[in-house]
Amino acid sequence: MPGHSCAVRGTFFDFVDDPWKHIGREAESARFVRDGLLVVEDGIIADFGDFAEVSKRRPGLQVTHLPGRLILPGFIDGHIHFPQVRVLGAYGNQLLDWLQNWIFPEEAKYSDREYATEAAGHFFQSLLAGGTTTALTFTTSSPVSTEVLFDESERRGMRMIAGLTGVDRFAPDYSVITPDDFYRESSRLIERYHRKGRNLYAITPRFSVGCSDEMMERCRQLKQEHNDCWINTHISENPTELYTSRRQSPDCIDYTAVHEKHGLLGPKFVAGHGVWLSNSEFQRFAKAGAAVAFCPLSNLFLGSGLFRLGRALDPAHRVRVALGCDVGGGNAFSLIRVMEEAYKVGLCNNTMLDGSVNPREQDAEEAERNKLSPYRAYYLATLGGAHALYLDDLLGNFQKGKEADFVVLDWNGGQAAMPWHQSLIVGDSGPESIEQAAEVLFGIMAVGDDRNVDETWIAGRRAYKKGAN
Ligand SMILES: [Zn+2]
Repeated sequence: MPGHSCAVRGTFFDFVDDPWKHIGREAESARFVRDGLLVVEDGIIADFGDFAEVSKRRPGLQVTHLPGRLILPGFIDGHIHFPQVRVLGAYGNQLLDWLQNWIFPEEAKYSDREYATEAAGHFFQSLLAGGTTTALTFTTSSPVSTEVLFDESERRGMRMIAGLTGVDRFAPDYSVITPDDFYRESSRLIERYHRKGRNLYAITPRFSVGCSDEMMERCRQLKQEHNDCWINTHISENPTELYTSRRQSPDCIDYTAVHEKHGLLGPKFVAGHGVWLSNSEFQRFAKAGAAVAFCPLSNLFLGSGLFRLGRALDPAHRVRVALGCDVGGGNAFSLIRVMEEAYKVGLCNNTMLDGSVNPREQDAEEAERNKLSPYRAYYLATLGGAHALYLDDLLGNFQKGKEADFVVLDWNGGQAAMPWHQSLIVGDSGPESIEQAAEVLFGIMAVGDDRNVDETWIAGRRAYKKGAN
């Protein structure tokens, strides 16, 4: 892998385990190194630990010191749309109208290479400014958009998953692609881009409501021929979409069954939203090793509903969950903002689960799992997201041998109120314990945004510095 070599000294925070497995003692899932040293060789973590020990093992290194900051693994976004950069925050519609009025007309422009190239610059710059170093992204049904996306991510050395986005119904004529063309172009793009540089390919049926049985069968064929590829789609986002799916597929008991019927549900299958998934569907996701990308910014912005995180994370049937910003349904690129909204969704769900509205819905354990502590939130944005996407062998924490993508957070960097707010917890010298670090991180997700991202590093090289780009 092409990468850079460096040694970075600072205060580090990452995860070694799933905090939901350590309820009541979540600090055990995390790791805090107050004065640490991260050594990177060719983009890969070669050493990590206390500065005093690592610097003794590796004398003579040229060290970049980043005091007054918290360094975390780069954020991993499990659901975003490259061709929707320009239409984030469109007024007034729920999902299906919003697609027709805003999204399909904008996405059509991405068959123009020049337009797509300009957009790619904005897309990657916005990701980096939010501290996001890896994303699973949709493109359009034009191969040009997929080529431009992969060419740009390779140029920047970023770990991205994407694929030609298939839709052959429920969209204007200019947005559809025939199943045969989709199959042929997907095969060509897999050959050209999958595992080239850090690029990975996702076979991408946009959503089954927009995909005929023939299109879904082509996806099955592609997955059989390229089992190493991912599958990226949407599921159970909006009630009208759900009813449409039921009408289209009377032979399937629910939305998930459509994907089971075509052999797609399994490892490396990632579906955005899952707001209206039933308990049975969650259980089948868990059994299959499939993942849901939880997109609260989008679910609230489009009025889709409240994802039942605590239900998805039932330890008896734990679903793999990543966070997604879902730009442009989501109205910001920042996973810090996504964590904030995810926290609020959890608390809204708990209004029902505490039994005060309906005693029969009381479920204290699910309610506890809904509460997004800083450990749980940042886990989902880093190691948990990597686990959901089957990337945790490559990314997600500072373990030796993993890829050195990381984000440098300034806990005072957000709105004007932040420095005094954070000074309640932490002095100028920064957090002194893991508990203090977690409180500072909660301050960032509750009060902050991408202004708290001071730097973003890709494969051992600084790719973004706030104010400098
Ligand atoms: Zn989406």
